[in-house]
Amino acid sequence: MQLGHAASNTVRSSFLSSSIAEPPAPPGINQLLALLSEAELGALQPKLQYTRLPAGKRLYEPSEAITHLYFPTAGIVSIVHVSASGPSVGLASVGAEGMVGVEMLLGAASAANRAVVQAPGHAYRLCAAAAKTHFAERRQFQRLALNYVNLVMLELSQAAVCKLHHSVEQRLCRWLLACLDRLHGNEIHMTHETIADLLGVRRQGITQAAKRLEQAGIIRYFRGRITVLERSALERCACECHRLMKAQALGSMT
Ligand SMILES: [Zn+2]
Repeated sequence: MQLGHAASNTVRSSFLSSSIAEPPAPPGINQLLALLSEAELGALQPKLQYTRLPAGKRLYEPSEAITHLYFPTAGIVSIVHVSASGPSVGLASVGAEGMVGVEMLLGAASAANRAVVQAPGHAYRLCAAAAKTHFAERRQFQRLALNYVNLVMLELSQAAVCKLHHSVEQRLCRWLLACLDRLHGNEIHMTHETIADLLGVRRQGITQAAKRLEQAGIIRYFRGRITVLERSALERCACECHRLMKAQALGSMT
């Protein structure tokens, strides 16, 4: 389904591009906003606020109202389920290809999960009232949001299959690839413990899998910093889920 036109002229580029130096990585474009037409983006622009996403910042908590819809331009936001007994598990990650808080548009009175910044970046944000009004009144924005919801459901289904049928090493490779896609580089700053929490596995399993990848010369790990040395080898070691999720994203949003 064609949702709109990609950003093409200098006016749109200057609006969508970040002029803030932190973090250093360009391009500072949210790919969903870039799909909106000139008219749709123009209507939205006065309501958008550019904001930093520092690591660890919680955008919303379970049972709390979602106050803003976020369109990241850089960085990674993790959607995390927090159990009543304490442990949490990552459900999804969102970068410049997506939005955070979309469930508010479907009528959710409060958040079911936590949204926390995993890798620092920036985002455009839209307050809940403006987001709901825009969703009700602007058909292209509505279609964009609903298509994105559909994509999130597909990704959650794929993630469930992945957890049941694929090894910790395959899942770690898939997860690293998904991070690389969002970070514009070959370094990921994250401890084994954090990765284990996000994947819902024991830390020891991640450490062992990372060690095998390190011995194969595919990654290097030092004090919470993972450097991917051979992306093509990482792709060969990953399960098919990363490739399938990218194909789903392409099919759903273009
Ligand atoms: Zn998988």
